[in-house]
Amino acid sequence: MRLSRYFLPVLKETPAEAQIVSHRLMLRAGMIKQMSAGIYAWLPLGFKMLRKIENIVHEEQIRAGHIPVLMPTLQSAELWRESGRYDGYGEEMLRMQDRHGRDMLFSPTAEEMFTDTFRSYVKSYKDLPLTIYQIQWKFRDEIRPRFGVMRGREFLMKDGYNFDLTKEDALHAYNRHLVSYLRTYERMGLQAIPMRAESGPIGGDNTHEFLVLAETGESGVFYDSEITDLKFGDREVDYDNVEQCQGVLEEFTSRYARTDDTHDQAAFEAQVPEERRREARGIEVGQIFYFGTKYSEPMGATVTDAEGNKVPVHMGSHGIGVSRLLGALIEANHDENGIIWPEGVTPFHVGIVNLKQGDAAADGACEDLYKALTAKGLEPLYDDRNERAGGKFATMDLIGLPWRITVGPRGLKNGVVELTSRRTGESEELTPELAVARVA
Ligand code: ATP
Ligand code: MG
Ligand code: MG
Ligand code: MG
Repeated sequence: MRLSRYFLPVLKETPAEAQIVSHRLMLRAGMIKQMSAGIYAWLPLGFKMLRKIENIVHEEQIRAGHIPVLMPTLQSAELWRESGRYDGYGEEMLRMQDRHGRDMLFSPTAEEMFTDTFRSYVKSYKDLPLTIYQIQWKFRDEIRPRFGVMRGREFLMKDGYNFDLTKEDALHAYNRHLVSYLRTYERMGLQAIPMRAESGPIGGDNTHEFLVLAETGESGVFYDSEITDLKFGDREVDYDNVEQCQGVLEEFTSRYARTDDTHDQAAFEAQVPEERRREARGIEVGQIFYFGTKYSEPMGATVTDAEGNKVPVHMGSHGIGVSRLLGALIEANHDENGIIWPEGVTPFHVGIVNLKQGDAAADGACEDLYKALTAKGLEPLYDDRNERAGGKFATMDLIGLPWRITVGPRGLKNGVVELTSRRTGESEELTPELAVARVA
């Protein structure tokens, strides 16, 4: 992409309404625009990143054997009356009527819709296990939308639903989700710690939240510091292997780690030696639930088992805050000049800065670099605008591409360009060929 043809509306001033760094940087880098409280337009750079995060989530869900679908955002209230949640859900649910006076709502979550889909088609235990999921916009009329995409009213969520014959099978699905979530967050370079949590209006008593430690997090967390040493790494997991998935669950959840809703100071002190006790803040980037037959029973989602009995299926639901993850990523990766994307999750892999637009040698070298990088399968962003070098550097630093290649007539006389790492700030002079080879 050439910056002269792109739409990157960066802001010079720091927007006054943004209280936390990720919100400020997303506005300044031209990633999002607020359309009303907690509702955002996704501008090209923000949209590109949202898609990248979404892709990682899809890949890891599919790897775990889960099947993508897409449900509507608007739902009829009928299904929610059937499950018994319509009246109880409260003011976070945006309710409306269509022209015929039928009660509708904008989905804040989709247990009912998935349960209804399941019961319409699946009748036999032979078709189980089944996990279907979507990545779809949700609406919750949050009382205090804030921190940009971290607590929006409209937000993108991955929500998955497992249907199993027995509690044991459903707990395996729970463990599978835990494993796939650990992989997902680690691929983004984020450490998200599974913590025992409250289930809230989803229901059920078996649930973990995944928290990214950050001072700006809205949850208070209490944990054993040993947990932060755990890495999922590149281990191979067979998602069908019950013991293996259970082993990962035990490894990652046996130490004390709870959010403030479930924290028990006496248990904390009994289980964790004082020097390892940590009290901090965290961002909830996902949650998994097992809730048994809470929805299948009232909604009649049953299958016939091997003996021919009709039994309600055991279910769970599992969410990832896809748009919130963007905020969490920036909270974890920035400095005073802007965002620092991890190499694996970045809108463009490398920026090319032409110090003297219009100079034949510089223009030619930039074009060659652009072609060579593209041929390598990378996406460069070429700042080909007629602007001062200082402004170009500031924009590149703000939008946080992992690498920058700076091209100017003076260096080219010696056959070199400059390669700079956004994270370390270190620069090297190299031939253009070596610079291309160096960029991952
Ligand atoms: P929170 O405690 O932050 O209100 P939640 O527990 O109500 O979140 P869940 O029902 O568990 O949310 O939804 C799954 C995931 O969706 C959450 O873990 C979070 O990452 C994301 N999420 C929830 N509410 C919002 C929101 N208002 N804006 C952005 N992401 C959200
Ligand atoms: Mg909530
Ligand atoms: Mg929560
Ligand atoms: Mg939650």
